[in-house]
Amino acid sequence: MDIKKIMVIGAGQMGGGIAQVCAQAGFDVKLNDIKEESYAKGLAVITKNLSRNVEKGRMTEDEKSAVLGRITKSLDLQDASDVDIVIEAAVENMDIKKSIFAKLDEIAPQHAILASNTSSLPITEIAAATKRPEQVIGMHFMNPVPVMKLVEIIRGLATADDVYKAVEDMTVKLSKTPVEVNDFPGFVANRILMPMINEAIYTLYEGVATEQAIDEVMKLGMNHPMGPLQLADFIGLDTCLYIMETLHEGFGDSKYRPCPLLRKYVKAGWLGKKSGRGFYVYE
Ligand code: NAD
Repeated sequence: MDIKKIMVIGAGQMGGGIAQVCAQAGFDVKLNDIKEESYAKGLAVITKNLSRNVEKGRMTEDEKSAVLGRITKSLDLQDASDVDIVIEAAVENMDIKKSIFAKLDEIAPQHAILASNTSSLPITEIAAATKRPEQVIGMHFMNPVPVMKLVEIIRGLATADDVYKAVEDMTVKLSKTPVEVNDFPGFVANRILMPMINEAIYTLYEGVATEQAIDEVMKLGMNHPMGPLQLADFIGLDTCLYIMETLHEGFGDSKYRPCPLLRKYVKAGWLGKKSGRGFYVYE
């Protein structure tokens, strides 16, 4: 199957990045959000990223304009009626994702693939909200999307081989590296990463060390490019909490219980970099 037209749902940190790399690879992209202001914010980030590429000599001004010209605004899911694939990157919430997929199933052409960028939610369950579970797949990009090479491609229980192949080929066209994984809570990336971040939050909660000290230990001692608390702020603390809850519920194992301090921060609206405050304060 030849993918040409793409819709990305959610113009937040992930959806904006996905739209950018798709447009840079020559695809036509409809970038959809429920809020006009979120779309505008997403497009502003894309424009800023591309301008930085021009400043650094990685792209010409004409190429930047061409990339932006391939991205169109969408505030209505009906715009999915002529696309070949939809990549959903709305919030990490099963009810919202199921409702989006059920609507897309009615709107998108019969041949269209419905992909989710979910960090941890079961693809098989999202697929069950549609009448085309064999065309539903996980396409898990990493943050920040324009920089990170990996895309975990998650096969739901019913995902067809030709759908997997089409998504794998498209990922390569985006200059990313696809890695095939099966549908279990957290897949591979977040099953390993998120318990480490949660443990770092427990370490802070129990007063073992300060935020800075915890991050410094993991950077200098383990050679991680970024400490776990700073990384949690970059991912978004709401997203981290959703993922821990998915692991906890999915495996029924208390080792995945989210740290109470993480819950408290999310309740306070301290969501990390995107809200201006998380474990650190951002200007
Ligand atoms: P975000 O909060 O930055 O963006 C979410 C966007 O979705 C917002 O602009 C919001 O207005 C929009 N939205 C919400 N409901 C919608 C709907 N019904 N229709 C259209 N748009 C809607 O979140 P994010 O960090 O970009 O995460 C998005 C998805 O990507 C989540 O499933 C998350 O788990 C996953 N993900 C996140 C990361 C990360 O590091 N943040 C990494 C990989 C995957």
